[in-house]
Amino acid sequence: MAVHALKDLSRLCIHTMTTKPWSLGQAIDGYTRVGVSGITVWRQALAPQGPVDSARMLKDSGLKVVSLCRGGFFPGRTATERAAALDDNRRAIEEAATIGAPLIVLVCGAVPSQPLEESRKQIADGIAAVLPEAESAGVKLGIEPLHPMYADSRSAVNTMAQANDIVEAIGSPFLGVTVDVFHLWWDPSLQAEIRRAGKSIFSFHVCDWRTPTRDLLNDRGLMGEGCIDIRRIRGWVEETGFDGAVEVEIFSDEYWAQDQAAFLEKIKAAYLEHS
Ligand code: ZN
Repeated sequence: MAVHALKDLSRLCIHTMTTKPWSLGQAIDGYTRVGVSGITVWRQALAPQGPVDSARMLKDSGLKVVSLCRGGFFPGRTATERAAALDDNRRAIEEAATIGAPLIVLVCGAVPSQPLEESRKQIADGIAAVLPEAESAGVKLGIEPLHPMYADSRSAVNTMAQANDIVEAIGSPFLGVTVDVFHLWWDPSLQAEIRRAGKSIFSFHVCDWRTPTRDLLNDRGLMGEGCIDIRRIRGWVEETGFDGAVEVEIFSDEYWAQDQAAFLEKIKAAYLEHS
């Protein structure tokens, strides 16, 4: 591998949730210090200082704001709950526009007491309801299919095929998909569905799948620590023409308990070697 490639961090983006113990300010300082190019901001990181001050901090940093995480959670048992979800998504669109994020990642939601088909219908209806506001704000929406272990309460959209179906049915250039290797690596239709998604792939998330996975939510591995062939999936995504950021999104109680600056060095090394 060429020396140039070893140092190429031009597409490396990190999610603020990956370094959860850090404030937005600490994350910005840490990422810029080691040469990270982009940042995906979770709304929890915006909350303490608000979107306007966050926007200023991000602009001053020179980091590219790749996306805002997250919108979605559209399904609800009652019309009141579903309306509240739409309002929250409208706030997310305003926040994204304020901080200059071109994309909101949607974790679509699910309600365990209702059929998945009903949740999927509410998801499609919810997206269609807020999409005009996203379009007028210049903010895209990316449906992120989640691993089926989360189908009860986090997302009724669990495969690329389901996400592609919704994107095709709605048919807006502002609606696309987010490919996250953690959620999708197991799917035998993945390559075909990535090809089908084509230009509607808006973003790409990486981490790894540990064996055993000790916690369903907070035991994601660093790239190279698990069984996901990240380079292969990245290759399929790039065959569609995708040339956007490679976003490191790791939820890990183990890594969050460690020194975050040292963790960042591990992320950088793992990104260069395995992503
Ligand atoms: Zn993700």
